[in-house]
Amino acid sequence: MLLDILTNPNPILRKKSHHVNRILDPEIQKFIEDLKETMLQKDGVGLAARQVGRDEHIFVINVDSKIQTLINAKFLLKSFKQTEFEEGCLSVPEIYGMVKRPQSVIIKYYTEQGQLKIRKINGLEARVIQHEYDHNRGILFIDKVYQYTTGEELVNAK
Ligand SMILES: [Zn+2]
Repeated sequence: MLLDILTNPNPILRKKSHHVNRILDPEIQKFIEDLKETMLQKDGVGLAARQVGRDEHIFVINVDSKIQTLINAKFLLKSFKQTEFEEGCLSVPEIYGMVKRPQSVIIKYYTEQGQLKIRKINGLEARVIQHEYDHNRGILFIDKVYQYTTGEELVNAK
């Protein structure tokens, strides 16, 4: 089932998400399937529960043709070294901008099977995970943009 994606400035996007206690609950499992389906249909590299108005700390990502579900994600470490890259968001249509983020992270999360993972992640996958994690804390990439990019034209954020 496709889910409706909320767009900025909907105040629900600014709410914080809650810990998921019953990952294997059939309703949660169905929701994860719907989240994946919606991400793929919208051609997104990631989608957070917050973006469809749900309070669970869940997000899905699609990087290098690999779809993953991250539940109750928590960063254990972020690299001092940062990289900059242009980001966009299904909840902030038609706006793109450069965002600096730590290049690599160590993250702890649960899979949709309820399995605990601790992984070091680099590059684009680390960026997407940080962007989606932010959604579940009520943060949008536009809060972190230092330069907007609109086609050929560059507009300074400040
Ligand atoms: Zn987003």
